[in-house]
Amino acid sequence: MESTYDARPSIFESASREEWSDWHWQQRHRLRTLEDLESVVEWTDEERRAFEASREEFRVAVTPHYATLIESDDPDDPIRRQALPAPGELDPRDFELEDPLAEDAHMPVPGVTHRYPDRVLFYVSHNCPVYCRHCTRKRKVSDPETAASRSQIEQGLEYIRETPEVRDVLISGGDPLTLSDERLGTILADVQAVDHVEVLRLGTRNPVTLPQRITTDLCEQLEAARPVYVNTHFNHPREITPEAERALDRLLDAGCVLGNQMVLLKGVNDDPETVMQLNRRLLECGCRPYYILQCDMAEGITHFRTALSKGLEIMDHLRGRIAGMGVPDFVVDLPGGGGKIELVPEYLEERHGERVVFRNYKGETFEFTDVADADD
Ligand SMILES: *Cc1c(COP(=O)(O)O)cnc(C)c1O
Ligand code: SF4
Repeated sequence: MESTYDARPSIFESASREEWSDWHWQQRHRLRTLEDLESVVEWTDEERRAFEASREEFRVAVTPHYATLIESDDPDDPIRRQALPAPGELDPRDFELEDPLAEDAHMPVPGVTHRYPDRVLFYVSHNCPVYCRHCTRKRKVSDPETAASRSQIEQGLEYIRETPEVRDVLISGGDPLTLSDERLGTILADVQAVDHVEVLRLGTRNPVTLPQRITTDLCEQLEAARPVYVNTHFNHPREITPEAERALDRLLDAGCVLGNQMVLLKGVNDDPETVMQLNRRLLECGCRPYYILQCDMAEGITHFRTALSKGLEIMDHLRGRIAGMGVPDFVVDLPGGGGKIELVPEYLEERHGERVVFRNYKGETFEFTDVADADD
């Protein structure tokens, strides 16, 4: 396959190749209704009900490009699970939290979360090309009433200018690439112009859901601010389409440093071999796996959650079997705003004084002699 165009669903039969590769066309032709989506999937009765009931809570939108990746006759398809509502969204659980990471509680000004000493999250848009069903910011994303206004963004910039501890600004959303090139370019330039800001990051899922968005014009804006650390969000190897590869390649050409934040999701990527395939493909594209994120305790996404042991099993499988560059950190973002912590498989088997026994990735054991701490 050269392009998802070659496998496009029948309702897009009359689209030209030029239209398909135009991100405005992709945005305008997003599938949003049951009837639209009937051309891509056979709905189960449960899914139909979930669609009707969840529409109010969290919008449904799927780009033609991303819809093409859905295997229509498989109700458990990993792309379908990420894009279409499931009954689990409507099953509230006691422990679920509206704002699981207390992002709103740690906002010195609207649209900026300042939790760690040196870095901030700066939300510049609440829209995305595809609304991921597992989104941890469902409370805001897709809601037109809470969209970041120009004055709010200006206020965020002002906070960054006045706060010298902020050395690292992560521009996020929603998806910042829903803004125009000019608008985004201006924000990047404004942040970069702040003397104490050393690192500029951009979080976007466009390379996955709308890779056509990575145009040469956009790349000019990114290049002007280079190096921009771009963290994207591939969850499954099938998402690395030819379009996605070209998008990543263009970002590399613009001097971006690429990382991937995978969210660990039941029925999508909760098995070691799938993650291995994904990470191999990412490295091939010049994108380093950065995080595997444990799925948060957000409302309506509990059906996506896996036990913590699953993430550890995946980490244990990766280490030793792929380059260290392909082994991300497995992190839990603690509820209530505790921040991210890393979980690591246990490699230390025994310790007797300075004699330590480790196991390696094959389960073989090896002895290591530690040295006493000089202060003891
Ligand atoms: C994740 C996160 C960051 C960025 O953290 P890194 O671990 O440096 O990628 C910054 N601020 C908040 C509030 C976050 O949740
Ligand atoms: S792209 Fe990110 S912010 Fe947008 S819906 Fe998906 S997970 Fe949420």
